[in-house]
Amino acid sequence: MKKISILIPAFNEEEVLYSLYSRLSNVMDGLIEYDFEILFVNDGSSDGTLSILKFLREKDERINFLDLSRNFGKEIAMIAGLDFVKGDALVILDADLQDPPELIPEMIRYWEDGYDDVYAKRRSRTGETWVKKWTSAQYYKLLRKTTRIPIQEDTGDFRLLDRRCVEALKKLRETQRYTKGMFSWIGYNKKEILFDRDPRAAGQTKWNYLKLIDLAIEGITSFTTFPLRVSSIAGIVISFLAFVFMIWTVGKTLLLGDPVSGYPSLMAVILFLGGIQLLFLGVIGEYLGRIFNETKKRPLYFVNEYNNEKATNRVQNE
Ligand code: UDP
Ligand code: MG
Repeated sequence: MKKISILIPAFNEEEVLYSLYSRLSNVMDGLIEYDFEILFVNDGSSDGTLSILKFLREKDERINFLDLSRNFGKEIAMIAGLDFVKGDALVILDADLQDPPELIPEMIRYWEDGYDDVYAKRRSRTGETWVKKWTSAQYYKLLRKTTRIPIQEDTGDFRLLDRRCVEALKKLRETQRYTKGMFSWIGYNKKEILFDRDPRAAGQTKWNYLKLIDLAIEGITSFTTFPLRVSSIAGIVISFLAFVFMIWTVGKTLLLGDPVSGYPSLMAVILFLGGIQLLFLGVIGEYLGRIFNETKKRPLYFVNEYNNEKATNRVQNE
């Protein structure tokens, strides 16, 4: 029997876990020809998430849980899950029921047809403000143009991955992860299916605009050095213009003996160039920071326990 793993990162999700479990088990009961494994990654929740997971595991042994040593964020929680799943295929699902588990049978059908990465694209985004929708649309446009990787718009982490995609993703062990881009980067046969994304079933979103901006910069800096290229080009253009301007001013002063004037324009130029320099120093700093983080070569996460077994300090993610 083929084994399907379902990976669910969960951070303070006590309010939704029971309804998630009941909807998931409905789906699994309709697919008796497969062997299922659900792996919850408890990402350092401070509420009752872990005890609910332990309780569910006692009821249903298809449920596994991985308890991380603290909150590492969803991206790291996902790679931790990838390291531990055993299935021939893997479905990544949000705990908050924004990704309907009822889509899993369709994903599996496409997987059986030979697709390696069946991803769910949002047809609509109910429950999200137009500001979030608009910024997200603009961002994807920019990302696709600059990275030359076809990163899918309106697509989250909700997808089915074949074993070989999982193995490929496990090889990408960068600390600052932009998993959404990695799905595209690894390639393989992709298939898109459409779905309506529901609003969160209960509880609070862990996202805020600061985190979103963080992830946005992450996406660009981990997949393209385009901002560095922009700074070089801006440097070339501005130096050229400055050179022309210099010839012109010096010539004018020599020929016409112009008295000193032009304080406002001087100020404007100094401030403008100062701003540009700071901006591009920031851009270089972003990349430098990434290099710094990667050179430390720290493990991506630590495991507190896996299915009631306390993890030793031996690093598992190797
Ligand atoms: N999540 C996580 N660690 C975090 C934040 C979120 O594992 O530090 C999980 C969360 O439990 C949920 C998924 O990531 O299963 C998506 O989070 P959320 O619903 O808050 O994000 P949104 O859907 O609003 O983008
Ligand atoms: Mg959500």
